[in-house]
Amino acid sequence: MTLKKRKKDLNFFERIYIIEIIKGMILTLKNMFRPKFTMEYPEVKFEPLASYRGRPVLVMEEQGRGRCVACGLCARVCPALAIEVQAAETELEKERYPEKFEINMLRCIFCGFCEEVCPEEAIVMSKDYELVFTNREDAIFGKDKLLVPIENLRERIEFLRRFK
Ligand code: SF4
Ligand code: SF4
Repeated sequence: MTLKKRKKDLNFFERIYIIEIIKGMILTLKNMFRPKFTMEYPEVKFEPLASYRGRPVLVMEEQGRGRCVACGLCARVCPALAIEVQAAETELEKERYPEKFEINMLRCIFCGFCEEVCPEEAIVMSKDYELVFTNREDAIFGKDKLLVPIENLRERIEFLRRFK
């Protein structure tokens, strides 16, 4: 078998490289004086818009109670099987609440299906994108980490009411 030598389609100036190097340097210099679009995280924090889908959280009302009625729809729809809900009865008007509500953040793919399907506006996607764990157990968020006061979630709830 004979191998064909591939001819490079370069003109004289491209073959001597110097012009190309100068062109590259000019481009670099031009970009050095353009406004910066990168952020120096973590010193500078990114503040997402209401449409952002950060980690899912449970809405905690002013009285310190969660809205969730433990219907289990979110767990049912979750494509990553990340949610575990165990229902229990309560004397309150809503009758049921989640005795146990856990999201495995290693599984969550931030799809927002749980938020979409929830009939009570009880689970919403927050702006929180800082997730750090040192072991698998820490990645399973229980109610202590999931319940977030409603004041911190108003923007997202308003967004959902307008666009959901
Ligand atoms: S955002 Fe998606 S993957 Fe994450 S818990 Fe909700 S439904 Fe599951
Ligand atoms: S968060 Fe919403 S969908 Fe999930 S169990 Fe609670 S009420 Fe049902």
